[in-house]
Amino acid sequence: MYDLIIIGGGPAGITAGIYAARQKLNTLLITKSFGGQMLKKSGMIENYPGFEEISASELIQKFERQLRKQKVDIKINEAMKVKKIGGHFLVITKSKNRFESGAVIVASGADPRLLRVPGEKEFLGRGVSYCVTCDGPLFEGKTVAVIGGGNSAFEAAIFLVKLARKIYILESGENVRADAKNQERVKKTGKVEIITKAKAKEIKGEKFVNCLIYLDRKTGKEKTLAVEGVFVEIGTQPATSFVKNLVDFNERDEIVAEFETCQTKTPGLFAAGDCNVGRFKQIVTACGEGAKASLAVYDYLQNKL
Ligand SMILES: Cc1cc2nc3c(=O)[nH]c(=O)nc-3n(C[C@H](O)[C@H](O)[C@H](O)COP(=O)(O)OP(=O)(O)OC[C@H]3O[C@@H](n4cnc5c(N)ncnc54)[C@H](O)[C@@H]3O)c2cc1C
Repeated sequence: MYDLIIIGGGPAGITAGIYAARQKLNTLLITKSFGGQMLKKSGMIENYPGFEEISASELIQKFERQLRKQKVDIKINEAMKVKKIGGHFLVITKSKNRFESGAVIVASGADPRLLRVPGEKEFLGRGVSYCVTCDGPLFEGKTVAVIGGGNSAFEAAIFLVKLARKIYILESGENVRADAKNQERVKKTGKVEIITKAKAKEIKGEKFVNCLIYLDRKTGKEKTLAVEGVFVEIGTQPATSFVKNLVDFNERDEIVAEFETCQTKTPGLFAAGDCNVGRFKQIVTACGEGAKASLAVYDYLQNKL
């Protein structure tokens, strides 16, 4: 029986692990992989204190290295279900392992939000991608579309500039939402065409994607873009279904948790980072919540004795 099980190996889960070890909590961290959403980051990270500029892969390696120096058990696996039985928790993994603990921190972050249009699933890995850093190099010399008008979409387009021949950014609203710096960078490339009021309707192709159909909301007519790649960058969906019996969710499926302690409605179950209702989703805020949650777990377990 562990004192604490942490689910997630992104910034929130790793920080929770480092703090838990320092509190001498007997801790298990279960994660599908290390890095989380940082692995999707194409440009440099410029807003993590201590590093004026650092690549996401280098920062996550530093996080992981620091965690692995602590006394924390690590299992690369997926948590499928969390149950509360009497005063303790049972976590069941994809490979049917069962682990018990006095407390659980859910730090499972978020997965890419799906476009939900015909062709998206069918062409996944054959032109449709949610990760420009992973798949961008496959589109050298090709014309591609990036769906979304926020910072992720703009950063994806900037990453693709050195590879792709031409890039379209499609935003369904009237205006893009990327910050001024990213808009400026995109403009400077001269390779990116931004189409607003454009709602993606269907991805088509034969073996691989060859076009994207969108509704031009200015004219009400459907238009076709000849593209060989479609990068979906329309935000994220919290990865929280495995605790649905134990927590409340808001309308975005984020776990309701107290601001100060990250405590959910179930005593002993905490939620930190992008999976909870916190408004600002950043590396530094996820780390902060991982720390808060671990310190709160320590208090919770002390009070239980
Ligand atoms: C493209 C992009 C660019 C970004 N750029 C920046 C930036 O420049 N600066 C910044 O501060 N923030 C940036 N962010 C936001 C930042 O990456 C997130 O806020 C942060 O990663 C959240 O950390 P987290 O630990 O809460 O979740 P995540 O990073 O999502 O990590 C969740 C972890 O949980 C694991 N997991 C999920 N479900 C399970 C399960 N059932 N069982 C086991 N493990 C599970 C995942 O494998 C992953 O390791 C960016 C995000 C994106 C997508």
